[in-house]
Amino acid sequence: MTFEKPTNRFRDNMENGVFTILFEVASPLKTDDLSVATHYLKAMKDAVFKDTSIETGLAFTDNALNQETWNPADFANDLEPAEKSRSIIFMSGKKSKPDLIADKINRCKSSGFLNIVAVTGDCATATGKTRPKNFDSVHILNQIAENEDKSLNTGCVVNPYLYTASAVYPQYYKLVKKIRKGANFVVAQSGWDLIKLQELRWFLESRELHLPMISRVALLTPEMAQEIISGGRPGIYISHDLEVILRKESQYGFAQFASAQWRRVQIQAAGARLMGCTGIMISGLERPEHIQTVCKKIHESFQELNNFDDWKNAYINYLSRAEMAPYKRFYFFENLFLRQHPEVKFARPVKECECSSREKSNYRICRMLFKNANMKFAGEHYLAKKIFAGCKGCSYCRIPLMQFVCPELCPKGISNGPCGGIKVDGKCEVSDLECIHSKRFRLALWKNELDSLEDRYIRPAV
Ligand code: SF4
Repeated sequence: MTFEKPTNRFRDNMENGVFTILFEVASPLKTDDLSVATHYLKAMKDAVFKDTSIETGLAFTDNALNQETWNPADFANDLEPAEKSRSIIFMSGKKSKPDLIADKINRCKSSGFLNIVAVTGDCATATGKTRPKNFDSVHILNQIAENEDKSLNTGCVVNPYLYTASAVYPQYYKLVKKIRKGANFVVAQSGWDLIKLQELRWFLESRELHLPMISRVALLTPEMAQEIISGGRPGIYISHDLEVILRKESQYGFAQFASAQWRRVQIQAAGARLMGCTGIMISGLERPEHIQTVCKKIHESFQELNNFDDWKNAYINYLSRAEMAPYKRFYFFENLFLRQHPEVKFARPVKECECSSREKSNYRICRMLFKNANMKFAGEHYLAKKIFAGCKGCSYCRIPLMQFVCPELCPKGISNGPCGGIKVDGKCEVSDLECIHSKRFRLALWKNELDSLEDRYIRPAV
């Protein structure tokens, strides 16, 4: 008897640098009419898996904002095995626990989906005083790695479109942690400031992490643009100048607006390829009959913009004729955009990253009182922990591992680094407070413990 390794075309393509366009399909809501969603999926798969000028696949996302969705592996179970091997599934840790994640993983495997992207997910709505916590993407990757199941190909997500040092650095430290936990490819959040995409690529190269990278590209409709501008898509931001341009484009009718977006997607796709991405993932495509057009247009853009300088001119003349950064500009490297390939000169963490004297004295008190709290009964010194670290009384105390910043202060309860929903200015996706992982980063910088942000895996308190 021979056991053949199941083919995984997506993984093979990533490993061999075959540029791939993935089309995003959101899993339907539990309240949706499943027959309509199934009909749409059939139309999508018929168009995506037809012969196209370029390699294509599907990307299934789950757990839409505050709504329960079907498990993507169940929803897309009718795809042919060869189609599944060209597709990826986003697995969200929203409101999840290890057993629920184990069930999701098993369902992916048994239905033949072998490419999984671990995501922390957006924040669940609070019911009364409690808010269900998220199971961090790092925990999902860790759970898959611990099972030593080599049949699965795992990826992770990063949001490079952030503009303060205390938001950018923790995002990258967490990325390294995810890669160490087994992520084989990286999916970058959607954004229009492509200098940030280059920053991400340079970061990976500077750390010798030569992983395949996929850039998410949003094909904007006026409604989607409005939703992003009003903050309805955590982690995706449109600059003020781009907002003005989009408003002008929408004045001339739907056809003109759509054609301006096609051109934008062409430039983003060509730029992603020249910056070393192995694929893009397109969201916002409402009509499956447009898939062939997208593939053709992207193919044309690769021929038209086939070197970095031509692409840069097109980007400046069209996409970036105004400021694309939605906030003040902080970039991790000098000389980004002037050169195609890395010149590794890091920007120094700036003054904003310094801790206040109050933060420093609070740290000193916590260290004196709770130095080994992770090795003791979690309820010990509860009152003091509540006063100095905001303790919420969980089953396993992690504060000494986290520069005495309690992970339970994060609305999602995540402990291994920031989520991708963090705002461009480093504030939390949910509240108007600084993200706890930015604060942890500043404390680690002060104590010269930055390595701990990527080396130290903090297990969940469940
Ligand atoms: S505190 Fe940070 S990690 Fe937690 S939800 Fe807010 S932005 Fe995300």
